[in-house]
Amino acid sequence: MSPVRVRFAPSPTGFFHIGSARTALFNWLYARHTGGTFILRIEDTDKERNSEEFLNVIYDSLNWLGMNWDEGPNVGGAFGPYRQSERAAVYREYLAKLTAAGRTYEKDGAIYFKLLGERHEVFDEHRKKTVTKVKVPPSVIEDQIRGRVERVEDEDFVIFRSDGNPVFHFVNVVDDIAMQITHVIRGEDHLSNTPKHIELYQAIGATPPKFAHIPLILNHEGKKLSKRDGGSSITYFLDLGYTPEAVANYLCLLGWSPGENREFLKTPELLQLFDLVEINRRNSIFDLDKCFWLNGQHLQHMSQERFEELALPFVDKAGVPYGTREALRPALAIVKPKVKHLSDVPGWIGFLFTEDYAFDPEAVAKSLAKPGAGDRLEA
Ligand code: GLU
Repeated sequence: MSPVRVRFAPSPTGFFHIGSARTALFNWLYARHTGGTFILRIEDTDKERNSEEFLNVIYDSLNWLGMNWDEGPNVGGAFGPYRQSERAAVYREYLAKLTAAGRTYEKDGAIYFKLLGERHEVFDEHRKKTVTKVKVPPSVIEDQIRGRVERVEDEDFVIFRSDGNPVFHFVNVVDDIAMQITHVIRGEDHLSNTPKHIELYQAIGATPPKFAHIPLILNHEGKKLSKRDGGSSITYFLDLGYTPEAVANYLCLLGWSPGENREFLKTPELLQLFDLVEINRRNSIFDLDKCFWLNGQHLQHMSQERFEELALPFVDKAGVPYGTREALRPALAIVKPKVKHLSDVPGWIGFLFTEDYAFDPEAVAKSLAKPGAGDRLEA
């Protein structure tokens, strides 16, 4: 069998949803588990909807979760991600191949992919127009998670818009071919696109990769987890001071399980145990309480050094006047067993480094203002 090559292919068109982070993680873990290659490919051909800001959130989140990629164009001596906006030549080349094979035509300035098969016209109630349906040779997907998916009828579709920009289906497939991707692990929302992709593979004369479509993440009401749900973006966990190891651990449990009811897993164990075959077909319910619990577990079980490394940015940001790292160390050691969020740390240790703190007036009246308080404190 050829070595595993997987990719995470986000479109920087919105906030970084934890579902996307999970997709990235499953790909990364699968690559690491099998000794394969993990690629980051930015799908940024839709110029109007992309932004550099969203892109930076993606990089920061991947970095924070410890996911490094193995390949890409040289950017200042390091691997940059592949960016579809920089790969126009590749798409033109594949377009030429399809055109030479007689599989494209132009209509209204756009370039269409021509399906093979018997054609008939039907009125589409939904779109309120007559469309041409094509009886295609069945395109069958043996999805690693969803099982067999088949489509027997489809329509020709646009692969280059009239403005000259290539369309998602086309660039996605071309890049998966050009990058020799062996497994496409992605969200279930793309399952309905996959027959189109198979048709493109066949027309280009390439063998399709294996597909694994990951079930959705739902909120407690059983609806698709949306922007409004707490914890639906990675930024939420970063800001509150979750540990990346706990978030990675939690994301893995959304749809995957190592068996034996195990939940608390350190990253090396995840790398060792993760496999596609255990991914669940059912949708997962997002449970912030469990993530919170796991965070406590990871904080308790991590080394003092790691705790310091993670807590330091929070302590610095809050401006705790701790002086030296040596002075800070014992203060952190006191609170480590109790901390639930790293953002709690400054509040819990700050008083150790200053005389300037607010007194609770009630407590002052009750104890400190009473006669003999000084003597009692002394004692
Ligand atoms: N750019 C697509 C997305 O963000 C990628 C789909 C895929 O992984 O093939 O949903």
